[in-house]
Amino acid sequence: MKTIIEPFKIKSVEPIRFTTVEERIEILKQAHYNPFLIRADDVLIDLLTDSGTAAMSAKQWAGMMEGDESYAGARSFFRFEKAVQDLTGMKNIIPTHQGRAAEKILFSIIGGAGKFIPNNTHFDTTRANVEFSGAVAEDFLTEEGKQPNVIAPFKGNMNIPALEAFIQKTGAENIPVCFITVTNNSGGGQPVSMQNIRDTKAMLKKYGIPLFLDACRFAENAYFIKKREKGYEHKTPKEIAQEMFSYADGVTMSAKKDAIVNMGGFLALNDDALALKARNLLIVTEGFPTYGGLSGRDLEAISQGLEEVLDEHYLTYRLRSVEYLGNKLMEIGIPILQPPGGHAIYIDAKQFLPNIPPYQYPGQAVVCELYKIGGIRSVEIGSVMFGKYDENGKVISPPMELVRLAIPRRVYTQSHIDYVIECAVELFANRSSLVGYSITYEAPQLRHFTAHFEPLG
Ligand SMILES: *Cc1c(COP(=O)(O)O)cnc(C)c1O
Repeated sequence: MKTIIEPFKIKSVEPIRFTTVEERIEILKQAHYNPFLIRADDVLIDLLTDSGTAAMSAKQWAGMMEGDESYAGARSFFRFEKAVQDLTGMKNIIPTHQGRAAEKILFSIIGGAGKFIPNNTHFDTTRANVEFSGAVAEDFLTEEGKQPNVIAPFKGNMNIPALEAFIQKTGAENIPVCFITVTNNSGGGQPVSMQNIRDTKAMLKKYGIPLFLDACRFAENAYFIKKREKGYEHKTPKEIAQEMFSYADGVTMSAKKDAIVNMGGFLALNDDALALKARNLLIVTEGFPTYGGLSGRDLEAISQGLEEVLDEHYLTYRLRSVEYLGNKLMEIGIPILQPPGGHAIYIDAKQFLPNIPPYQYPGQAVVCELYKIGGIRSVEIGSVMFGKYDENGKVISPPMELVRLAIPRRVYTQSHIDYVIECAVELFANRSSLVGYSITYEAPQLRHFTAHFEPLG
């Protein structure tokens, strides 16, 4: 077996600005030890997110010149509609400016007080849009998905018995749709099996509840199915993706993930009556139905990206480069959420820094140290992001203290990742000298974006 190489050549480059350790110590201080407050120019390797950070291909850029910017009936819309229909089999394709706009439109119509939306795990914007409508968001992740050290092929699966018990208790009439998120972003980028999607659909059918896919990483999920599920080894990623969508009645999508573009999304629906309501709302909040929240050129880039993302050489490289980073971190002795997911590696900061209690934010300590050592930007997913206070002001922590290293699509080469690994060796060596953090300022909602921190001691 030869090295799995990046399946592309580089035609246009973006220089990285180098900084020294001394400069980064000062930058961190100026940014109040919050990576969201660091300027991107001061970052060497940016692993903050895989959302909207991809490199587009020559064909996507060419498509941008082809973009038809007509207000109504643009040619680019029909290309986009055909590409999404071909992939999802859905009748009604509604472009939005990003994934959350599709969610906002959908839940404004079907959500509201007294309604419940189940999901394997809601992504944060999905949960926010469900709750904003007045409905309740409920997660039904399979038990093995909740254990960071358990190695299993499909840790993103829905817990179907728990979901069915919930439906019987709550009443199917109060559950307008059920979602499955592929891959399970908030659950570590873990895939969902075809069997699980099929069985969830069959169970929901008994109760007349439609199944929707939050399909942001549908191609990565399809490739995990090809690699791990019996009966799919000889199917193409596209055939597998098409089968996944065949069980769904609707789709929400952030094109900033597996359509390999910097901005965009869509809502796809089989139900014509629902689609009519969605288009009416789209006109008020996003734009005319043949462009939604997007330019013609964006629609072209998405159509092209949806094709490229299903290329096997791309998917092999994509999943392998994430796995490569994960395996090397484990060799160094840095505990991670196992097995590596599709788009990111999650360091288990609780296990890594047992001397820093959750209320002193061990994940933030790892984030700051990685930036100091190598200018690498990552993000805490633990007590900073999800922590709440009890009535005595004590921090209530979530079950895990994670640090996410998300890999942008087609942006970094193996030597960039090797550099990250070298910095991780230093992180491991420094682990006993790391200290916890306290929060000195926080906003009432989504505090992780703007909070200020101070190192303790
Ligand atoms: C990113 C994401 C969204 C929201 O999409 P945006 O384009 O960021 O609005 C929804 N669900 C999942 C699983 C995501 O990863």
